[in-house]
Amino acid sequence: MEIERRLIRVDSFRELFNAIKADGRIIIGPSARNGKIIFREIGNFDEIATDYVQTTQSSKEASFPRTEKILDYSKNTEGISVKGSELGAIPEVVLWGTRPCDAMGIGELSAIFNWDYRDELYNNRLEQITVISFSCNKADEYCFCTSVGGNPGNTQGSDILFTRTDDNGNCLAEIVTEKGSGIAALTPGLFEKEGKTDKVKYLASVPVRFDREQVRKKLDKFFESEQWVEQSLKCLGCGACAYVCPTCACFDIQDEKHGKSGSRVRCWDSCGFSLFTLHTSGHNPREVQSERWRQRIMHKFSYMPDRLSVYGCTGCGRCSRACPADMNILEQLISIQEAEA
Ligand code: SF4
Ligand code: SF4
Repeated sequence: MEIERRLIRVDSFRELFNAIKADGRIIIGPSARNGKIIFREIGNFDEIATDYVQTTQSSKEASFPRTEKILDYSKNTEGISVKGSELGAIPEVVLWGTRPCDAMGIGELSAIFNWDYRDELYNNRLEQITVISFSCNKADEYCFCTSVGGNPGNTQGSDILFTRTDDNGNCLAEIVTEKGSGIAALTPGLFEKEGKTDKVKYLASVPVRFDREQVRKKLDKFFESEQWVEQSLKCLGCGACAYVCPTCACFDIQDEKHGKSGSRVRCWDSCGFSLFTLHTSGHNPREVQSERWRQRIMHKFSYMPDRLSVYGCTGCGRCSRACPADMNILEQLISIQEAEA
C-alpha cells in the first residue's frame, strides 16, 4: 500500500499503548535493566525507555528466539511419538520502539529463513508481529546504516514509523502496511491529517563511510588476503557479535533427553565459535579465527548479496559496541574498501 502520513502527539502514545494492550497483544519494547537498554515484554507504558541510541540486543528475538522448542518426542512400546510446536498458539506481538536498522534487518533475516526452505516457525512468528518503529534523532560513532542502504528515518520493514518533528510534541506517523493501519484503527482520533512535514531535518546525521558495492567487489579477490589475519588477531571467538546482531541467523539443533522422552530445541550459534564447523572426525575446515572472521564478513557482504540479493548487515553498530576485544566492523570494512586489489 502507499504510505499514509498522519500526525500524532507524543503525549498520545500512552493512549495508543493502552489500546494495543486492551486489544490483547503482547508489547515488546526497549526498557532499562542493569544499566542496559534491552527489548523485553512491557506491562506498563512508563517502563519504555526513550533516551538511548541503540538497545544492547536487537529485536530479532521476537521472530527468532534465542532458544526455541521444535518438537517433543517420547518412546513407548509401539514406537516413537512426536508432537511438533503448536504454530496456532503463537501470540500476537507488537514490537514497539524498534529502530529503522532493526526493522530493515527483518527483511534480511527473512531472506535467510525462506531461502532454500520455508522455516514455518520463523514465518509464523513473524506473521504475528507488528513493527512500530521510531526514527533515530541521535547516533554514535558505531552507527553506519547509511553505508548499507538504510537511513535514520527508513520505513523499510516497519508497519508504522514515528518521527519526532519538533520540540512541541508533534510526531509524523508513516503508516506503511495494512498491519500498521490496523494499529492506527484502534485509536483513530489520535492520528490527525498531515500537511507536508519534512522529517529529514529532524533525523540523526549518519555520514556514509564506505560503499558496500565496492566492498563486495573487493571481497571477490580478497579470500586469500593477509588482512584477515591482521583484522582478527584480537578476536576471542566469544560470539557476542553474532548474538547482538539483527541479521545473524546461525543456529544449532540439540535434543534434550529425559529418560524415554525429550525435546528437540534450536538455539542461536555463531560462526565465530571454534566448534561451529568442527566435524565428528575431528577435522575443522575453519581451523583458525581468521578463517571464522573471514566467513562472517564474506557471508554478510558477498555470499548473501550473491545468493539472496540482500546484504547481511544493517549498520546498527551493535557488534562493535558489544565486542570485548574492541573489534570494529566499520573500521574493518573501510580498510577492505581501501585495500590494494
Ligand atoms: S564479539 Fe569480538 S571477540 Fe567476540 S567473536 Fe565477535 S569479534 Fe570476536
Ligand atoms: S554485523 Fe554488526 S553492524 Fe552489521 S547488523 Fe550485525 S551487529 Fe549490526
